[in-house]
Amino acid sequence: YNNICPLLSISSCFSASQQRLSSEHGEHEHELYDVIISGGGMVGTAMACSLGLDPNLEGKKILLLEAGNKKVMDKVPDAYSTRVSSISPGSATLLSGVGAWDHIMNMRCKPYQKMQVWDACSDALITFDKENLQDEMAYIVENNIIVAALTKQLENLSDQVRVQYKSKVVKYTWPKSHQVADAIPWVQVTLANGQILQTKLLIGADGPNSMVRREAGIPTVTWNYDQSAVVAVLHLSEPTENNVAWQRFLPTGPIAMLPLSDTESSLVWSTSHRHAEELLQLDEESFVDSINTAFWSNENHSELVETAGSLFRTALSVLMPSAGSARQLPPSVAGIGPKSRIMFPLGMGHASEYIRHRVALIGDAAHRVHPLAGQGANLGFGDVACLTQLLSQAAFNGKDLGAMQHLLEYETERQRHNLPMMAAIDLMKRLYSTNAAPMVVLRTFGLQATNTLPAMKAQIMAFASK
Ligand SMILES: Cc1cc2nc3c(=O)[nH]c(=O)nc-3n(C[C@H](O)[C@H](O)[C@H](O)COP(=O)(O)OP(=O)(O)OC[C@H]3O[C@@H](n4cnc5c(N)ncnc54)[C@H](O)[C@@H]3O)c2cc1C
Repeated sequence: YNNICPLLSISSCFSASQQRLSSEHGEHEHELYDVIISGGGMVGTAMACSLGLDPNLEGKKILLLEAGNKKVMDKVPDAYSTRVSSISPGSATLLSGVGAWDHIMNMRCKPYQKMQVWDACSDALITFDKENLQDEMAYIVENNIIVAALTKQLENLSDQVRVQYKSKVVKYTWPKSHQVADAIPWVQVTLANGQILQTKLLIGADGPNSMVRREAGIPTVTWNYDQSAVVAVLHLSEPTENNVAWQRFLPTGPIAMLPLSDTESSLVWSTSHRHAEELLQLDEESFVDSINTAFWSNENHSELVETAGSLFRTALSVLMPSAGSARQLPPSVAGIGPKSRIMFPLGMGHASEYIRHRVALIGDAAHRVHPLAGQGANLGFGDVACLTQLLSQAAFNGKDLGAMQHLLEYETERQRHNLPMMAAIDLMKRLYSTNAAPMVVLRTFGLQATNTLPAMKAQIMAFASK
């Protein structure tokens, strides 16, 4: 095609809405899209909405492919789902920009104003809150509500974005060099039902085991943590304002209680695989006892660490008398939701490249993190905002959407944000996975000192809330 109209850009040679190309054998016609998004989880669906709403991308052919069923929610179920995400203000802004946030607010979501993180091996703690406690620090939203809200919004964008559910991609064929005879300049996507599609840009949003990433041969660093997360819906002993997210670092891993309503919270307990399996086997009463003990017990405290910590705290209070914050106690748990206990093995994954010619990775396909900082989906929504902006600009300038120039900008910008976050999360996981006294003393000093430095805490919050 370049030979036919060498002076024109590839994109202008093809009228996107009409273009069909012959297959290598000339037998079939394969529909050509400007953008195909592979994977309609939280991140891929947000990407589809975001591109569909962008005025500069009007008229582009955009397709979202999802292996699973369409996730609609005509009525919010009474029971909370076990899969929830802490959504940062930055992600809420993105979801609001694509028109999904109003649906989320109308369905169900719980804002919280404060977070308390503390060490089970010492008295060290850190609290984060907005100076004005009216401000939301973040929001706990069920994952299926996020997807349902985005899906609802996609229905309003049916002229801009086509969506195919139950459409598993089984093969990708990458564009070959123009010198090769019969070379197809686009990415070819083969579905399980035999359908073949072509696209100028493929966005891989197909999760941590991304087939796009694997088939594109993108080098990836992955490792499995020695932990699984047990998640459950918790019933609190009594109604409370429940506007604090709690996380305690146990030597076996962090346990978090995230607010859902005045009477319910969500549990994310990361622990050894064996312990996680044991927790799933326990009867409800023993499971609840284990949760309360994990939040309340001081059995991991040692005299040496307590003395060192208390001396350090006294020194800090002399230097900065008004700094620091008082410890609050988390609410006690009385029961769990029916059939609400599940476990997930935890791992970390980093694609060293987010892009290839005509390919970009977003969300867990590009990066997977430990849930201890509640950042996985937030990083993915950040990818969506960044890639949309760069593709919009490229379209405005009449550029080929799959060209490397703006994809490289996407990779640079996102890796600059995502990598420090991933490194910090991994470091936290390692720092708190031990009860060796020197390490406990070190992290106790670190946490206590940070807790007395409002400017530093504000910086941490600003970074995590993007
Ligand atoms: C216990 C736990 C707690 C967490 N808590 C938080 C939190 O508080 N805050 C936060 O921000 N993050 C959190 N996360 C992380 C968050 O859940 C993930 O980062 C997020 O779900 C990733 O979304 P995604 O859309 O990129 O991938 P996925 O959710 O994995 O979606 C991928 C989609 O692609 C589809 N797909 C895959 N292969 C194909 C194919 N071949 N063809 C077509 N479709 C395909 C799948 O069906 C799926 O729908 C947590 C994770 C865990 C495990």
